Amino acid sequence: MLPALVATPGTHSAAEQTDGAAAVLRAVLDQGPLARTAIVRRTRQSAAAVSRHAADLLAMGLVWQPPEPVEPPRPGRPRIPLDIDTSYHVAAGVHIAVPRLTFSLTDLRGRVVATEHAPRARRPDAVLAEVAARLPGFLRRHAHGRSVLGLGVVTGGWVDPDAGVLVENAALGWRDVWLRRALEQTVRLPVHVEGHARALAHAELLFGQARQAEENVLVHLFVGNAVDAAIATGGVLLRGRRHGAGGIAHLPVPGSAQACPCGRTGCLQVTVSDNAVAERAAADGITPHADLLLLLRAAAEGDPGALELCRSRLRMVARAVRPMLDVISPDAVVVTEAVTLRLPALLPELSRELGGADGVVRGGSFGTDTLAVAAAVPVLAAVYRDPLGLRTAGAAR
Ligand SMILES: [Zn+2]
Repeated sequence: MLPALVATPGTHSAAEQTDGAAAVLRAVLDQGPLARTAIVRRTRQSAAAVSRHAADLLAMGLVWQPPEPVEPPRPGRPRIPLDIDTSYHVAAGVHIAVPRLTFSLTDLRGRVVATEHAPRARRPDAVLAEVAARLPGFLRRHAHGRSVLGLGVVTGGWVDPDAGVLVENAALGWRDVWLRRALEQTVRLPVHVEGHARALAHAELLFGQARQAEENVLVHLFVGNAVDAAIATGGVLLRGRRHGAGGIAHLPVPGSAQACPCGRTGCLQVTVSDNAVAERAAADGITPHADLLLLLRAAAEGDPGALELCRSRLRMVARAVRPMLDVISPDAVVVTEAVTLRLPALLPELSRELGGADGVVRGGSFGTDTLAVAAAVPVLAAVYRDPLGLRTAGAAR
């Protein structure tokens, strides 16, 4: 049953309701379990407003009231805390990468509940058909009756989340793919589309180490087969025209003569992508065939040629990206990249090359769950931005 969710008409605008409820939910995410009195202090809203938003969020299954610690009875009203309800809703996601698809399910704290992988077909229409065909079984196996808030669809390159379109992903060889329009007709869930670097920046801001530092400037660098950046100030991602901000794939790498599909030579993505580095390792005889995991394993075992190739990748990334970072002067640079994930000891070298002060450059917060978290986070970001929007999405209980 839905209790009285809507406040007295005329007293609170819809925008105030949305912003107020989002602030309460965000405070509970960051610091829950949190007493209502603490939420009042943190969000600077009235006690009545916090009570109203709390009632809405409880009714929608977004927060719950954990049992109070056993304490001697105190005078006054009981201090019933609120926490994020991780048992009722889940977010689904699919990450589309060059080698494969990653299906994931996370709870409202961005923790991965389930992951499955599938090979990726070449053509976009075949991939979208595969997603629609596999998703129902994936949800049956892992959602266990929980409410599925929506499907996140995340891929590298330039993505316009408002239009739901992949504008360009050179690593996949895709252009102008209407991801949301195609999938909404087949999966019967709200579909939220986002670029990989931006999704990870959202994940850092909501669930990672960056969430306590909303006022600061954060740059997220992703180096895989796609090479992207996302820039956030005060917890908000820089958009640019059609969400094109952060496109670093074609920054020049000094000294590189690698031919790029864009017609120039020496572009960052074609020079340092996972496939490019793996092919260099095979050509140099470091690995028997082009396989990045083999190269990383050899480097981890101390093979000097493998280590030097890994270091040279980091140096090339740094040389291309450093001028941009010098201009922005970020408080934090979060790097999601296979070499530093596998060999964290090389992260300080990258930090030096990037000219970062101590502690500015660090690895991502999600380790081997990175792709799974990225896939679902557009759904979660939408919920934390506008929790009351769930009412119209039909997910309220
Ligand atoms: Zn290029």
